[in-house]
Amino acid sequence: MSKSSAAEKVAVVTGGASGIGKAVAERLSKDGYRVAVFDLNPGDIPHSYAVDVTDRAQIDTALKSIHEELGPVAILVNAAGLDGFTPFLKISFEEWQKVVNVNLHGVFHVIQAVLPDMIDAGWGRIVNISSSSTHSGTPFMTHYVSAKSAVNGLTKSLALEYGPKGITVNAVPPGFIDTPMLRKAEERGNLGDIEKTIAATPVRRIGKPEDIAATCAFLISEEAGYITGQIVGVNGGRNT
Ligand code: NAP
Repeated sequence: MSKSSAAEKVAVVTGGASGIGKAVAERLSKDGYRVAVFDLNPGDIPHSYAVDVTDRAQIDTALKSIHEELGPVAILVNAAGLDGFTPFLKISFEEWQKVVNVNLHGVFHVIQAVLPDMIDAGWGRIVNISSSSTHSGTPFMTHYVSAKSAVNGLTKSLALEYGPKGITVNAVPPGFIDTPMLRKAEERGNLGDIEKTIAATPVRRIGKPEDIAATCAFLISEEAGYITGQIVGVNGGRNT
């Protein structure tokens, strides 16, 4: 398996129906991987599965179909996510749990479900999309930043645990990427003036989902096999 071509490798991309996950799924398909998408409403994307990543039974059912239709999973990119902007004292425990459930527990569930395939193959690649807010903290996003920071910690620990099995685990914390999530936050007035943020961004532009997809494509490649447990920032220089 280790030296097999992209066409022999199955990649699962969560959140693959929108924004960053969609760009990752499209890039990996273009690179020749056999891509399966998990999302809440994936529509008519090929090999897509209506999966809530907080629901282990749905994940296991989809994985069974993937095994039958495509084969064992070699690559996982966890991009499903849910933001939240609420002053800390106003966050209900229900809202806290929802944000942590999707952003952290979803990552736990999907990794735990697909890891046995990678162990069997002696080769695997996992990329977790966390957030640049984990570098800096962000007011009104304590639940989100807590969950995403935990994803970075999970990434480092899992990399140490499964490096000996040929599996790399890295995180990409994006910053300020032009996606439906970001535009919805802008519409709600959560982000302030986007043009001002661009002016304060060292590379003077907003990020594109393809910027994150390109980073994922590299991290899952054969030649990135010596990179593991890393938090690879892609943020236009906003966080260094
Ligand atoms: P997006 O356009 O909203 O895409 C996220 C996708 O995840 C959506 O299709 C969403 O479905 C899906 N999803 C949400 N909850 C899910 C669940 N429980 N199970 C399965 N799928 C679920 O957002 P994005 O900006 O591309 O975000 C992708 C990842 O990057 C997220 O983890 C986000 O936290 C992270 N991120 C983004 C930015 C940025 O600047 N855009 C910055 C830092 C981190 P619905 O639309 O149907 O809810």
